[in-house]
Amino acid sequence: MICPRCGQPISYIERQRRGNQVYYFAAHYYGYERTPDGKIRKKVKKCYLGPSAYIEVTKTHSDLGLTLKGLTEEGRERDYMEALVESVRDRIKSGRLTAGRARELAAMFSRFSEEFKELARELSEYAAEEVAHKETAKEAVNETVAAKKAPERTLTRQGGLKRSPLRTLAPIGGQSAR
Ligand SMILES: [Zn+2]
Repeated sequence: MICPRCGQPISYIERQRRGNQVYYFAAHYYGYERTPDGKIRKKVKKCYLGPSAYIEVTKTHSDLGLTLKGLTEEGRERDYMEALVESVRDRIKSGRLTAGRARELAAMFSRFSEEFKELARELSEYAAEEVAHKETAKEAVNETVAAKKAPERTLTRQGGLKRSPLRTLAPIGGQSAR
């Protein structure tokens, strides 16, 4: 990601809250430096990007019509894609594209369509795994809760309840608990 203010690569985006306003800064990390008193500290230059979730890119992406949304926000991928597609269509319509550039873009989009297909597959897999992990975690929690409750009940009832509630919950193998 290139900084729209100074054109240098952005190391990270800093979000600063003052009152109920949020300000965004592009931080450029230049390694470490030694201060006059001998201490080592990070050398970071910060460029002010904007006061809200929307950061307009003035230099590098202006030709693509991209508006750099708050970088930590949800849904920015979709906005990027839509803006990119629109800008290319605009350039086709207006004839602002050379044949060479058009071929370059065509090649790039063909390559990316393959990558996006692969990415879509990876995302589906990730989603499936994520759901599976949550289910496992839920089961684990339920088991812990049941295990904690069971001895309490038998202790307070003092022999009145011989059967563990866990066993009535789990009639494995079709045998009914009698
Ligand atoms: Zn900058």
